[in-house]
Amino acid sequence: MIDNREILEKMEIKRSIWDVVNYVNNIFLQALERNASDIHIEPTEHFLLIRFRQDWDFIVIDKLDRDNISPIITRLKVLSKVKIDENKKPQDWKIVYYYDKEKQNIDIRVSTLPTNYWEKVVMRILKPDAWLTNIEKLWFIDTNLEKVREALKSSYWIILVAWPTWSWKSTTLFWILKNYNPLEYNISTLEDPIEYNIEYVNQSQVKPEIWFTFGTWLRSLVRQDPDIIMVWEIRDKETATLAVEAALTWHLVLSTIHTNSATATIQRLINMGVETFLLSSALRMVISQRLMKKICQDCKKEIELPELILKKVRETLYPIMDKSEVDNLVFYEWAWCDKCNWTWYKWRLWAHEVLIMEPYMEEMILREASANEMTEEAKKHWMITILQDALIKSALWLTTVEESLKLI
Ligand SMILES: [Zn+2]
Repeated sequence: MIDNREILEKMEIKRSIWDVVNYVNNIFLQALERNASDIHIEPTEHFLLIRFRQDWDFIVIDKLDRDNISPIITRLKVLSKVKIDENKKPQDWKIVYYYDKEKQNIDIRVSTLPTNYWEKVVMRILKPDAWLTNIEKLWFIDTNLEKVREALKSSYWIILVAWPTWSWKSTTLFWILKNYNPLEYNISTLEDPIEYNIEYVNQSQVKPEIWFTFGTWLRSLVRQDPDIIMVWEIRDKETATLAVEAALTWHLVLSTIHTNSATATIQRLINMGVETFLLSSALRMVISQRLMKKICQDCKKEIELPELILKKVRETLYPIMDKSEVDNLVFYEWAWCDKCNWTWYKWRLWAHEVLIMEPYMEEMILREASANEMTEEAKKHWMITILQDALIKSALWLTTVEESLKLI
């Protein structure tokens, strides 16, 4: 594992960068090559720290003399054509960077915030289609992928993606949106913030300061002849109720909600005050998903699981797999090689739980059954739980049993 503190202590402070234009260009290039999502330029007490966020983790890139702060920030301001002398207020601007290797323009969102040591700059790299590259079927296992595709076909029902924490929710939402041709449908989204511009999709940005919220947007939107509505997040009763109403009036509504399982999502909506009879008819599918670390393909090695863990793994998989198959599964773990030590993990994958609305579940919503009761019943109706899905992925050597057990 990388110890950033150790790396930083060993690094010499670079006195001066002679060619700031080249230096900044090089930082962008490096970030794109490494598939970093953010570039942080942070003035500290003794030096200027440059870090990348790659997947979830930070990687220290450079340590510069503090004198370099001003030229770098000036260069960034020139690139985004904003006022150079403004450094008292937080600012947001955009740089369009031409990435020669892929022959395309990359949008970089720049945010500055005055700190006690000058200005801290954070740049988010918005690679077009980044949410599609390298994400094979979004890591849905075949049975779940079939369920999702079937549910998307039927449309006109509300679909919720459940999220326990911050974890790339835009990836899933845009992956779903990609199933629809925006010229065949009227697609409207309300986002916070808008990260990717999608051609022919009507994207709006939440602006609470002028009361442009999910509620006001949804109310106006019904007069905009929409087919597909994407609501970034359901946080309150008003949004939940309006979303349900829109779904009941033949719109496909996509949204996310912060819960930790598919059935907990239903509970959450009931607790918010959504009428059970409306909910049971409006809801079509709930996808709950969690991010997991993907195993390093270069150094993975077979692991002998401790007796107790093996027992737990087997008991979890018996209901959905053949017993002899389960008993013969082989699992892998990381050995840590140069490759994964440096790039950390190459990518992440998801574990899913896909709950499809069926008559038995409608009945359970109407009598307000508990989330546990719903989960138990859903398992009898072939819902694969998050843990089962993660363990299947461990058995496919995509991740580890240790990672899977962290999910519960
Ligand atoms: Zn490795």
